[in-house]
Amino acid sequence: MSAINAVGVVKAYSATPVLRGIDLSVAQGAIVALLGPNGAGKTTLVEILEGHRMRTGGTLSVLGLDPAERTDFRSLRQRMGVVLQQTMLEPGISSRDLLRRQSSYYSHPMEVQDILCKVGLADKQNDLVRTLSGGMRRRLDIALALIGHPEILFLDEPTTGLDPLSRRSIRELIREVNSAGTTVILTSHDLEEVQDLAHTVHVLSDGAFIASGSPREIIAGSHSKTQVRFLLGGIEPSSLPAGAEVNAGMVRYETLDQDHLIAALQRWSTDAGQPLQGLTVIPPSLDDAYATLLQPAVTTGGNP
Ligand code: ADP
Repeated sequence: MSAINAVGVVKAYSATPVLRGIDLSVAQGAIVALLGPNGAGKTTLVEILEGHRMRTGGTLSVLGLDPAERTDFRSLRQRMGVVLQQTMLEPGISSRDLLRRQSSYYSHPMEVQDILCKVGLADKQNDLVRTLSGGMRRRLDIALALIGHPEILFLDEPTTGLDPLSRRSIRELIREVNSAGTTVILTSHDLEEVQDLAHTVHVLSDGAFIASGSPREIIAGSHSKTQVRFLLGGIEPSSLPAGAEVNAGMVRYETLDQDHLIAALQRWSTDAGQPLQGLTVIPPSLDDAYATLLQPAVTTGGNP
C-alpha cells in the first residue's frame, strides 16, 4: 500500500487556484522531498496531506485514510509526526518533561529515555529548553514528532539555520528513522541536503509539479551542464578551443556532452602540445538542475 496517494488534488483560496491538480504517489518507507520557490504551494500541499487544510477537490489517501475526514484525521494524528519550520517550545520545561507530556497523547509511545538517546539528548534531558542550542532544540522537535512511533514524518526545513555538525547529525537521524521504516516527507531549500537524503523529488511551481523523479533523474532531465575545468598555466587563452571562460588562472567550459568536449580538449592538447593540468569534471548538482528548471531563460551559452 502507498503511504500517500493523491489524485488531482486541487486547492483554491477564494477563486485563486493554488494547487492545480496534484498527483502524488509515495511508497511506504520512501524519503520524498517537495521543492519549489516561495509561493509555489508547498505548505498548502503539505498541510492538506497532514489534514491541517482542506482541499478543494481531488482524492487523497494518507496511510489509507482521508485526512479531510475528521474521524480519519484523529486516527492519522496517532500515526504521523510533524516537525514545523518553526516551533515554539516552552522555554521553562526540561526535554524529559516535555517528551513525557507528549508521550501521554499517544496510545503506544516510545519510552522517553529511548527517544532521548536516539536524538542524542540523554545527557541534556534535565536542562531547560531555553538553555539548549539551536541544534539541540531541533533534535527535540524531531523527538517530539517521533515519540508516537509515526509511520509517516513530515519535516519542514529541518536543518535551516543550523551549523554543519548539527545539520549532519539531523540528517543521520532522518536516515536512521527512515531505515526503521518511517516514510519521510521533507520540504527544504537546502538542495544538497535533498540530494543527499531524498529517494524522490517533486518540484512544484505555481501549483503544479514541473519535475518528479530521483535526484539523478531530475538532474538528467533538467539538461543542466557539466563543468570541465583545468589550469591555464602557460596556455595562451586565445589559442583555446571555442567556449572557454578564463578566470583567475582557471579555464572553464560548460557542456551538455561531456564526452564530446573532453575528446575535443584532448585532441587540442595533443596538437598544441599543452597539457590539461588539473583537469576536473564537475557533474551538475540538484542545485544546478533546480536553477535550470525554474529559470530556463538565464541558462544560455553554447557548447564548444
Ligand atoms: P509555499 O509554501 O510554496 O511558499 P504556500 O502554500 O504557502 O506556498 O502558498 C501558495 C500560494 O497560496 C501563495 O500565493 C500564497 O500567497 C497563497 N496562500 C497561502 N495560504 C493562503 C491563505 N490562507 N489564504 C489565501 N492565500 C493563501
